[in-house]
Amino acid sequence: MTHAPTNLFDLFRSRFPSDRSKPFLTTEKGRIISYEALEDISGHMAACLRDHDVQKGDRVAVQVDKSPEALCLYLACLRIGAIFIPLNTAYRTGEIGYFLSDAEPVVFICRPEDEKAFAPIAEGLPAVRHCLTLSVDGQGSVMEALARTEKRAIETAPTNPDDLAAICYTSGTTGRSKGAMLSHKNLGSNADVISNFWGFSAEDVLIHALPIFHVHGLFVATHCVLCHGASMIFLPKFEAETVISLFDKATVLMGVPTFYTRLLQSPNLTPAHCAPIRVFISGSAPLLAETHTAFETVTGQKILERYGMSEIAMHCSNPLHGDRVPGTVGPVLPGSAVRICDDNGQPLGVNEIGVLEVKGPNVFQGYWRMPEKTKEEFREDGWFITGDIAKIDEKGYVHIVGRAKDLIISGGFNVYPKEVELLLDSLDSVVESAVIGIPHPDFGEAVVAIVIKEADSPKVTEASLQDAVKDQLARFKQPKKVIFLEELPRNSMGKVQKATMRDHYKDLFKK
Ligand code: AMP
Repeated sequence: MTHAPTNLFDLFRSRFPSDRSKPFLTTEKGRIISYEALEDISGHMAACLRDHDVQKGDRVAVQVDKSPEALCLYLACLRIGAIFIPLNTAYRTGEIGYFLSDAEPVVFICRPEDEKAFAPIAEGLPAVRHCLTLSVDGQGSVMEALARTEKRAIETAPTNPDDLAAICYTSGTTGRSKGAMLSHKNLGSNADVISNFWGFSAEDVLIHALPIFHVHGLFVATHCVLCHGASMIFLPKFEAETVISLFDKATVLMGVPTFYTRLLQSPNLTPAHCAPIRVFISGSAPLLAETHTAFETVTGQKILERYGMSEIAMHCSNPLHGDRVPGTVGPVLPGSAVRICDDNGQPLGVNEIGVLEVKGPNVFQGYWRMPEKTKEEFREDGWFITGDIAKIDEKGYVHIVGRAKDLIISGGFNVYPKEVELLLDSLDSVVESAVIGIPHPDFGEAVVAIVIKEADSPKVTEASLQDAVKDQLARFKQPKKVIFLEELPRNSMGKVQKATMRDHYKDLFKK
């Protein structure tokens, strides 16, 4: 009897095309990484990591720009059973300090331009034995170390299905990020389900314009390609005209809703240009029903919206064949389950609004070194409480109607207000603050801070606060606007009324 591979890399390799000279990815500048090169470079990197004392179960934290080498590093980690930790390139010193001390990676790899700021942090932590660099164009001390590494055959590390492949840090509701632990089985089973559900084949060419420090670009997009021996056009970032100009060389686009609102602004978005694309997929944040309708009107194609999160990868999707309903994320994917519950975990009926709970082989293993937090977010019978507010209609389609935990999604990135509030509140002459998300035509939502300052503190201004958080927070978390009030609106229980403020300022960014 043959067993399905349990190491994710072996699963991918078992699907590589027989002709390994086939491009796995092509860059905008015409660089081609074939499947053969992918196996070769990632194997060489795996040997290099081994030479840097990285053992199975050790963490490798990576905060680098998008490049083919960065993807190879991810595969290299899978091959030796190390746990890959992708970090958003926007994170600054304070955040990096936290991630390194929490994850204790053996190796930390950053951009050469960040080495001066981050190396001292790594050096102060005994667990972090090596701090290396990798640049956007594939240079840096990782590549120098690679040149010194003897090329040799690397056996894939045997892994159990529940062994960890990656830890993805999510923003924390209490101000600190939580590391979602994803196993080889979580990622492998999900990759198979979604790539088949969306009809991937070796003929597909995906336009990859997403960052690779997030589940969407690193797992969802890349794994669909790897599971079918398909190809991708690997772009450093999303730029509407570039993407439209590539439609005739591609078959699939995956994006966040902002991609689609930007595409709609282009006069070049026509049915003829879009014809080669067999499916446009959207996720990571709510796609407005108006955007869905406008896209269909302009292009004749219906966007396929799906739902997931770092903790569960993909969980619901509109169908490839069948009704793609605007404003919904579709039914649950095969092999997984969904239910809507009240706050006590009691299941609710059809069309009743409550908290979305999920179960399935894709659901993560818990939060890294946070057993209490993990316990709080799982029911005793294994259902994971997503924190998203939703309903399920009579056809089984899931409608996400809100977020239980106040999460702001700006340009596709999550911002938990608490983290920004804690920082603002710690500043001189700031009494308290409330951070909310306000609709924004470009970012979906923009971060706005409502601040109460001490009387007689003329030096505390919008500019001074924005300046004070600049080095502490990733740019997407920094308030786009600061509003000063005499006091925060509160209810009789003393709870800050964020809904009232969101409503009051809802037109702040209206054009
Ligand atoms: P992340 O962990 O960064 O992937 O963010 C996960 C969160 O993004 C979910 O809990 C949802 O709140 C939100 N999200 C993802 N996809 C969708 C979608 N299609 N519609 C609405 N919200 C979504």
